[in-house]
Amino acid sequence: MKKRGILKGLIYMVVVFMDDDESSWTTKDIKYYKTDQITPNCNFIEHQARKYGHTAYLIPKYFQSNEKVQLKYKGIFDSNYSSRVDALDQVAKCLGYKNKNEFNASIEQETKGNQVIYMIILNKDGHSVAYCDSINRKKDFIQHCICRNCYGSGRRKDHEGSFAHEILHLFGAEDYYKPPKIKELATKLCPNDIMLKIHDYIDMNTIDKYTAYCIGWLDDYPEQYKNTDWFK
Ligand SMILES: [Zn+2]
Repeated sequence: MKKRGILKGLIYMVVVFMDDDESSWTTKDIKYYKTDQITPNCNFIEHQARKYGHTAYLIPKYFQSNEKVQLKYKGIFDSNYSSRVDALDQVAKCLGYKNKNEFNASIEQETKGNQVIYMIILNKDGHSVAYCDSINRKKDFIQHCICRNCYGSGRRKDHEGSFAHEILHLFGAEDYYKPPKIKELATKLCPNDIMLKIHDYIDMNTIDKYTAYCIGWLDDYPEQYKNTDWFK
């Protein structure tokens, strides 16, 4: 199991609406994404935290292109990790910083030591992904996730909770839809957990005990997952 995180208290979310060579954000799309994706996803996490007796407040800090700044990835932001490994550095440079560390230092100063997470959002379809703590990462690695707007066509797709799913990864939650052995167990133990399946409507999802344990809402390893082939 990866390092457990603590999703509690004030958490600042640096949300960057980024364009690339083949996609761009309009004011209307951004407004839609904020109200139909970010707000319900943050409400979901805050509500689930209360069920475990904790408070978590996710405070978005938005960055989007304006007359002075163009937040644009150089090239096409495809699904290949190697082409987007520098995403946060590119964001920092667009905003006038030397690199991501300088940007991070400025954000940390502004948010006065509270936790900060970074999310870069592209206005195109595709898989969302979180880059988290790992022993293989370089020292200056900054956890962040990349999300995709699945509402570009104005049509609801089955990804309403993907933003919350990625946030939970940044705090230590695991995927349960793979490998097959874990998926089978999860389907029995926590069928509606957001790390197993993202339902059409986020209110149909839950944060079950094991996920709650991973993100610091429960101190003890949940009983029903013991003596199974669950993550060891
Ligand atoms: Zn995932």
